[in-house]
Amino acid sequence: MKDHEESLAALRGEIDEINEQLLALIQQRGELVLEIARVKQAGGLEGPDPEREADILRRLTAHADGPFGASAIRDIFKAILRASLDIQEEARHALMRVYASDLVPAGGILVGDVAIGAGVPVIMAGPCSIESREQMEEVATLVAALPGLRILRGGAYKPRTNPYTFQGLREEGLDILQETARRHGLRTVTEVLDTSTLDAVAAHTDMLQVGARNMYNTELLKAIGRLRKPVLLKRGFMATIEELLLSAEYILAEGNENVVLCERGIRTFERATRNTLDISAVALLKKETSLPVIVDLSHALGRKDIMLPCARAALAAGADGLMFETHPRPERALSDGLQQLDPTEFHHMMVGLGLAAEPVSSTAQGARP
Ligand code: PEP
Ligand code: MN
Repeated sequence: MKDHEESLAALRGEIDEINEQLLALIQQRGELVLEIARVKQAGGLEGPDPEREADILRRLTAHADGPFGASAIRDIFKAILRASLDIQEEARHALMRVYASDLVPAGGILVGDVAIGAGVPVIMAGPCSIESREQMEEVATLVAALPGLRILRGGAYKPRTNPYTFQGLREEGLDILQETARRHGLRTVTEVLDTSTLDAVAAHTDMLQVGARNMYNTELLKAIGRLRKPVLLKRGFMATIEELLLSAEYILAEGNENVVLCERGIRTFERATRNTLDISAVALLKKETSLPVIVDLSHALGRKDIMLPCARAALAAGADGLMFETHPRPERALSDGLQQLDPTEFHHMMVGLGLAAEPVSSTAQGARP
């Protein structure tokens, strides 16, 4: 009995020693993997090389003639390769601003006196397109009556799918937005379509919006990155979460850290809604980055009847604010009429979200057509 115990202890001692050696070798391998990542990055080379991985597994399993068969060896090395990819990705993320935990100050990203990402949901509301002074005046009155944090939106340059539809009031629209907002003490967000109009748009608004169609416009992103103005970066129709983050990185890398992300629905096979609101993206973005996230319910859904529960879901998933298209007479809107809330609907939405008090205010009722 004693002999058995002694030999068991000796064998276990040997195993412990081998484990230590394996551990040291695995860590040594990890250092090399990180060195390869650095060399690849310096040479502008892309990440993993599946052919090389397949070759490694082929060679290692070809002479797996010990107690571990080919399949066990494959499993063990696959796990090592997987873990190696993970540390390479971590190293890549460590070099990127968008994954940094200290990006946003505790007070949030400031759009004038409106703090986004500081714990209080921000409401961005206004028409799809700026159409007239009267229209903006009515909407601004409605938005300004809201307690809490709000930003007036409205498109002056419209990226319309159909070239024969209303393209926006352009410079005149910018003037209307700026003047109306000033009168009501509101901050503004409006879309910038290209680098040639960037300076003019930046001079007229507190926050720039990069639309879904422009999320991949790297020259525009870089030019905005050289400014210090807050930017609302919308997710492209077909963009992955990682692609959205890489677009944000374009802006951050140029030094503009005032970036707010916007989930506005992605294109899927589903036709019941204009796009598919990706709630998981909200939770994931909040997990992956410290940048604030806004959810645009209007473009995500394209319809109003299910907007309230979806808005609640967005806030529950961690959104720092919501965007709603709001129009005094949506049925007469020059763009996106179906999805724009009229004043009463907008007020009910705010009440439903606990952001305004019942009963419907006289301002909201008064603005009803
Ligand atoms: C908009 O907000 O006016 C707009 C055009 O949205 P998106 O870029 O998300 O389509
Ligand atoms: Mn719109």
